[in-house]
Amino acid sequence: MRHHGMNSQDNRDHNRAALLSLVRSHGPISRSELARRSGLSKPVVTEIVDSLINANLIYESYKAKSGVGRRPVMLEINQDSLHMLGIDLARTHVEFMVTDLTGNSLKTVRRPLNTESDEFSTLELTRLLAATTKKLMAEYDIIGIGIAHPRPLSSRKRIVVGSEGQPGWIALDVQPALSQETNVPIFVGNDADVAGLYEKWFGAARDLHDFIYVMVGEGVGAGIFCAGALLLGSRGMAGEFGHIKIKSGERECLCGGRGCLETELALPVLLEKASEALGRPLESVEQLSAALEEGSGLVKEVFHGYARTMAIHVGNLINIFDPAGVIMGGEIAHLGKYLEERLHQELGEVVHPLLRDGFTLRFSAAADNMVAKGASILVQEHFFAYPHKYIAEFRG
Ligand SMILES: [Zn+2]
Repeated sequence: MRHHGMNSQDNRDHNRAALLSLVRSHGPISRSELARRSGLSKPVVTEIVDSLINANLIYESYKAKSGVGRRPVMLEINQDSLHMLGIDLARTHVEFMVTDLTGNSLKTVRRPLNTESDEFSTLELTRLLAATTKKLMAEYDIIGIGIAHPRPLSSRKRIVVGSEGQPGWIALDVQPALSQETNVPIFVGNDADVAGLYEKWFGAARDLHDFIYVMVGEGVGAGIFCAGALLLGSRGMAGEFGHIKIKSGERECLCGGRGCLETELALPVLLEKASEALGRPLESVEQLSAALEEGSGLVKEVFHGYARTMAIHVGNLINIFDPAGVIMGGEIAHLGKYLEERLHQELGEVVHPLLRDGFTLRFSAAADNMVAKGASILVQEHFFAYPHKYIAEFRG
C-alpha cells in the first residue's frame, strides 16, 4: 500500500499514464470515451491528449462512422514512435526481437548459443548480448530491453539465478553486462511469465484479467495473472510451477531438487514414456501426434496418465487462484487436439465444484518466437505505467 501522498506532478503523471494505457487497451477510442472510462473531466482529457499527440505517442486516426451529431475523432497509439528490444535467452539460442509500441515485430535476429553445453561461458553470452544490442540500438530508437530466461530468476535483483554446477543455470548480472553498451532500463523475466504477457496482449488471454499461463516444453512453468498484473512474489520468482514437489526422492531435477513436477510433465519425459510403451523412439511432438493418430493403445494409456497428472496440478492452481482461464502454451499446445477434451474431463474431478463452470481452458496458438516478443512487452508494461520516465517533455 502506498503511504505517501500525491503532489500535483504525481497526479499529472498518473492521469497521463492512465489515459495512454486506455488508448493502448481500448483504442481506437474517442476523447469522450476516455473521459467516461477514466472518470477525468473532458477539459483535463483534452489537455492530456494534446500533450500525448505532441509527444508523438498517439494520433488522431479517423472519425467514427456512427453517432448522432458531430462524429468523434478516434485516437490510437502511434506505433512507430518508439521501439523496444526483447531478448530470449533460450537453451540453444539467443533471439533478439525489436518491436514497436503496439507489439509488432520489426526485426528478429537469432544466434545459436548452447547455454547447456560444457563449453558455454557467460563471457561468450555477455559479448553476444553486448554486440548485437549495440548494433540494433544504432538502427532503432530502443527505449528499454527485456530479457527472458527459462530458469527461475530474480527480477528484482536483475540477476538470473541458479545453483552452481547445474547445467543450464546462469548466474549473470545482466545490468553491468549491458549497461556499457546501452543507457536504457533493463528488465528480466521468466520465459513462462513473458509468454503469459504475450497471451495477455496478443494471444489467447486478451479477454481475461485473471488467468494462468502454463508453459510445457523442455521444462514446465507458469505465469499467474491477478487482476491483469503478473504475480511476481517478494523476489520476483512466483509461479515456479515446474518445481512444486510431487514425489520425494524420485528423478533429480535441473534445479537440484528431487521429485519436481517438471520431472513428470516436461515434454521429453512424456516422449520417453511414450517411446517405451511403443517400443520405438518418439523424438518430437509431431511423432507423438502421429503415434496417437495411429491409435496405439499403450501410447494412449501413457498419454491419459500424463493428462491426469497435468489435471491434478493445473486443477490445484485453479483451486488456489480462481482464474477465469488457463492457457496451455509451449510445445504442449501442439498436442491440444488430443489433450483438450481429456484435460477438461479430468479437471472436472479436480477443480472445486464451485469453480468448475467458472473457467475456460485454451491452447495457445502462438508462434515459437513469442518469448522474445513477450520479453519486449516487459518494457512496454513499464513504459505505459511510467511514460514520464521515458519522454523528456513530460518531466517536471
Ligand atoms: Zn526442480
